[in-house]
Amino acid sequence: MINSHKFLRLRVCNNHSLVSQSPSASIFLRSLRSASSSGEQQDLVVIGSGPGGYVAAIKAAQLGLKTTCVEKGKTLGGTCLNVGCIPSKSLLNNSHYYHMAHSGDLAKRGINMGGEVTLDLPKMMQQKSDAVTALTSGIDYLFKANGVTRTNGFGYIKSANEVQVTAEDGSVSTIPTKNILIATGSEVTPFPGIEIDEKKIISSTGALSLDEVPKEMILIGAGVIGLELGSVWTRLGSKVTALEFLGHVGGMGIDMEISKTFQRLLTKQGMKFKMNTKVTSAAIGSNGKVSVSAEDKKGKSETIECDTLLVCVGRRPYTEKLGLENIGVGLDNKGRVNVNSAFQTSVPNVYAIGDVITGPMLAHKAEDEGIVCVESIASGTKPHINYDAVPSVIYTHPEVAWVGKNEEDLKNLKIEYSVGKFPFSANSRAKCNDDTDGLVKVLGDKKTDRLLGCYIVGPGAGELINEVALAIEYGASCEDVARVCHAHPTMSEAVREAHLAAFCGKAINMA
Ligand SMILES: Cc1cc2nc3c(=O)[nH]c(=O)nc-3n(C[C@H](O)[C@H](O)[C@H](O)COP(=O)(O)OP(=O)(O)OC[C@H]3O[C@@H](n4cnc5c(N)ncnc54)[C@H](O)[C@@H]3O)c2cc1C
Repeated sequence: MINSHKFLRLRVCNNHSLVSQSPSASIFLRSLRSASSSGEQQDLVVIGSGPGGYVAAIKAAQLGLKTTCVEKGKTLGGTCLNVGCIPSKSLLNNSHYYHMAHSGDLAKRGINMGGEVTLDLPKMMQQKSDAVTALTSGIDYLFKANGVTRTNGFGYIKSANEVQVTAEDGSVSTIPTKNILIATGSEVTPFPGIEIDEKKIISSTGALSLDEVPKEMILIGAGVIGLELGSVWTRLGSKVTALEFLGHVGGMGIDMEISKTFQRLLTKQGMKFKMNTKVTSAAIGSNGKVSVSAEDKKGKSETIECDTLLVCVGRRPYTEKLGLENIGVGLDNKGRVNVNSAFQTSVPNVYAIGDVITGPMLAHKAEDEGIVCVESIASGTKPHINYDAVPSVIYTHPEVAWVGKNEEDLKNLKIEYSVGKFPFSANSRAKCNDDTDGLVKVLGDKKTDRLLGCYIVGPGAGELINEVALAIEYGASCEDVARVCHAHPTMSEAVREAHLAAFCGKAINMA
């Protein structure tokens, strides 16, 4: 712990020295930045304004770099704000309220609605769009406040020191720059042979804007995005069946015990699963239904019909027409831009971060990479991210969240570990809220007690996991977390109890 505290102080001081600049210098830089960037030499041009690109651009400007952010979309914020994290979480939140009212959960709590509970889908969609608009325009505001120049258009790397921008009206300009940051993100991975029309056969983008609730929906893929969107439409009344190639739900990185618990809870909510099932084709028939053909592990095939097919088989890096060939920057076998640990491509002043490079496709991972990358451009510091401390969250109800290694990882690495578990059914706050599904599972090093991983299925797991990420980042032991005073009654007491169980074998509030 003592070492961790020293490290924390060092980090804070470091950041402070990076951002400090005299007021007059700041005004001077700002006046320069508010001018049009066309033709004007920049310190940094960021291509893409997703969470990686926009956060990097703001940080770069705060550190005194003359920064332009080029975005081809009409609004800032990339996948995350426009067709990803934000609209999906709005629908998840409101469909959960609807489900609580419609399923009788509220009545069970003594809250009577005084009539039939009905769904106003256009209004729910409007609330989602309002959240998106507020947040995307918020980035415009932040760009202005920090002196980042926004340039609308398609960015193309003409040379290692020039980004060419083609605007929607066809006009072309070139921005000379000392450094380039590629933050072009990712796009939906197509399913070979299945054509997405965003009406009956949809991607995650279409699933965020359906204008009616499908009677029957099939998901191809029971990963994070599929389960979140499948949950939304299940709650709103669709009969949802997920066809999954793997033998477990929740995608890569999830602990198998947690995945099983999660699948059982989703099944209880009405979702159906066909695991180890390979979809072979899908087409819209003359009756207007989508028929989906699939085969199981043994090769036995079946065809199922649905009103809407949601194809959720992942995302792939987006580098189309970016001009990487002009500077000789290579891609790996998955189409991701190759970078070193400082996020530099093979061209030292051209960097890449976020979904377009290796690692989990997560908004906060892209943001963190953006920040440390521009800190290193501005001041030469060595960027470092502990990917073991990057949390993952599935925003269903209950939520699923994890950070660090899972049991399967530890077995593969031949690390001896201790396990501490605590169910929400024994947590006082979960009892008060009558929301007790799930558990916290903690994995610690058997010899040193170092905290190695934590998996939570439960209400608010996405908030709870952040204290564990902090503990992992600072090298805490399970005992360290167990000895921190946690407010009562809170769900986070279950996190503390699971750490206690991992450290000494026994929790307090469970026999
Ligand atoms: C339905 C859904 C839900 C999700 N939910 C979550 C979640 O809850 N939490 C989470 O962490 N992650 C979530 N994600 C993933 C998250 O959205 C991505 O990991 C994140 O957006 C990646 O950020 P990025 O900055 O790397 O790229 P992106 O957000 O993809 O942004 C890239 C930007 O670059 C622009 N661009 C590309 N090429 C050019 C060019 N040549 N010129 C100009 N502009 C260009 C694009 O228009 C885009 O705006 C979700 C994704 C989806 C699809």
